[in-house]
Amino acid sequence: MVSIRNLSKSYGPLKVLRDIDVDVHEGEVVALLGSSGSGKTTLLRCVNLLENPDCGRIEISGQAIFNQSAGGDDKAGIKQKQVNTLRSRVGMVFQHFNLFPHMTVLGNVMEGPRIVLKEDDASNRKRAMEYLEKVGMADFADRMPHRLSGGQKQRVSIARALNMRPEVMLFDEPTSALDPELVGEVLSTMITLAKEGMTMLVVTHELGFALEVADRVVFLDQGTIEAEGPPADVLLHPTNERVQSFVNRFH
Ligand code: ATP
Repeated sequence: MVSIRNLSKSYGPLKVLRDIDVDVHEGEVVALLGSSGSGKTTLLRCVNLLENPDCGRIEISGQAIFNQSAGGDDKAGIKQKQVNTLRSRVGMVFQHFNLFPHMTVLGNVMEGPRIVLKEDDASNRKRAMEYLEKVGMADFADRMPHRLSGGQKQRVSIARALNMRPEVMLFDEPTSALDPELVGEVLSTMITLAKEGMTMLVVTHELGFALEVADRVVFLDQGTIEAEGPPADVLLHPTNERVQSFVNRFH
């Protein structure tokens, strides 16, 4: 479903991702863990080209969306239209929700299909309401975002991403901006999605979520993959020193 090969990304002299290989298979949930600054967010943002990688190859459902060899001057030649098409296939949920503040909850969920897919209003509205129902926010359809709690905003942003019917969902620390008592409602929405077979790549500090829901954990450190495997193997019996010290912080 998502195949990442030899991906590298720098910001000026700072090498943030070094030759990364990651696969996310259809229906799989992969948790991306690592200490602050290890490159998790950058990797996620490269997958939907919110960041332009230096080199490497990214495929979504077998189709290359980025392909540039190291040192090559073969520009990827990605056009804005292709980027828009890609973004409709890859849903993204951000740490800080990023809802459109001047639109109602329903307006937010309908906006992507309306603008990008040019979908007619009636079917868009019907599906948007179904997704709001799924995340438990249908009763709030006419509310403005500023009148929602953080957990409610995040559930709306999940519904908004789903309404584009993406092939894969990317989550960037979706609960880390929430008060502790609101984390559970967002995680349970994500667990429901995972159980329904949604393909998910999730940057998270929630070890419990990784252990319970993820099929695989990828642990990044200073832009390289230090450990990868089933969550219980990687997190409960870490053999890698860096994973050990990361996990110990949570005890
Ligand atoms: P966190 O858990 O704190 O969110 P992270 O693992 O997601 O961290 P990234 O946000 O990917 O890490 O950042 C990796 C490194 O790249 C950090 O050193 C960060 O300061 C740097 N960085 C990120 N974005 C930019 C940018 N736009 N310009 C310059 N440096 C950046």
